[in-house]
Amino acid sequence: MLPYTTTAEAEAFLGRPLTALETLWLHYSAAKSDYFLYCHNILFLFVVFSVVPVFYLLLELVFSKTHRYKIQPKVKLSVSQSFGCYRDVMRMFFLIVGPLQLISYPSIKMIGIRTSLPLPSIGKIVSQLVVYFLIEDYSNYWIHRLLHCKWGYEKIHRVHHEYTAPIGFAAPYAHWAEVLILGIPSFLGPAMVPGHMITFWLWIALRQIEAIETHSGYDFPWTPTKYIPFYGGAEYHDYHHYVGGQSQSNFASVFTYCDYIYGTDKGYRYQKRLLKQLKEGVKSTSSQNGGSYVTSTADLKSD
Ligand SMILES: [Zn+2]
Ligand SMILES: [Zn+2]
Repeated sequence: MLPYTTTAEAEAFLGRPLTALETLWLHYSAAKSDYFLYCHNILFLFVVFSVVPVFYLLLELVFSKTHRYKIQPKVKLSVSQSFGCYRDVMRMFFLIVGPLQLISYPSIKMIGIRTSLPLPSIGKIVSQLVVYFLIEDYSNYWIHRLLHCKWGYEKIHRVHHEYTAPIGFAAPYAHWAEVLILGIPSFLGPAMVPGHMITFWLWIALRQIEAIETHSGYDFPWTPTKYIPFYGGAEYHDYHHYVGGQSQSNFASVFTYCDYIYGTDKGYRYQKRLLKQLKEGVKSTSSQNGGSYVTSTADLKSD
C-alpha cells in the first residue's frame, strides 16, 4: 500500500509533478495492499493460459492457409484433444500455480519488489526484463538438462513430453513437481535484480507468452522474435519434443547460446543440415517431375 493517497501528497513526496502513468498507478494502487497487487499475477496467468493459445487453435481450425507454417504438418489434434490439454493445465493451475502465488508473497517482499512511486522508466523495465530472460534461460537450461536424466525423465519430465508435436495449450502442461521446480528460474531474475511490481507482472506474463509461442507448433517467418539475437523459437523447441525422451538436444527455454556453448545442439544442427540437403535434392527432382518436396522434420518421419 502506498504511503500517500492523493496526487498532492505523492507530488510532495517525489518533489515533482506525477506523470500520467504515475497518476494512473496512484489511483489504482493507493488503497490496495501489496499482497493483493502481487496476486494480480493469478489473473494475468489465467488470461494468458486461456487466451493466447486460442490464437493458434483458430489457425488450426479456421485459417488453413497458415498450415504451411506448421512445423509438423502431419500431426493434427482435434478440438477435444486441445481442450483436454487446457483442462489438465487448468487443473494444475488451480491446484498448484494459484496456491503457489498465494503463499509466495513473503519471498517477494523479502527480495524487495516495490509498488511505490516513482514508476521505473521504459528503458529500466526493458533492461530488467532482458536480464530476467537471460537468468531464466541459463538456470532453466541446467534444470531441464537434469530432468532428462533417467530418473528425472521417468518420474517427472515425461509428462511434459507427452506432446511430441506441441501446441500452445501444452506449454504449461507438466508434472506438478516440474511446475514447482521451474518456478525457481522464473524467480531468480527478480530476486537478483528486484524491480517494480509492474515489471514483475510483465515478466511473469511475457515469459508464459514466450513459452506458448515456443510450443505453438507454428514457425512464422514474420514473427518479431526472429529479430532477437540467439532466440530459439518454436522450431528450435519443437525439435526437442519431436525427438522425445532420448532428446539430449535443445534444452534451453528461450535462447540458443547455452546449447551451443555446451554442445547440446549437435543433433539439431545435424538434422537441419540433413533437411536442407534433402530439400535441395528433392527440389531439383521435384522441378523435373512436378512433385512436392520435403518441408519439415515431419516429412522425414515414416507415416
Ligand atoms: Zn525436455
Ligand atoms: Zn516443452
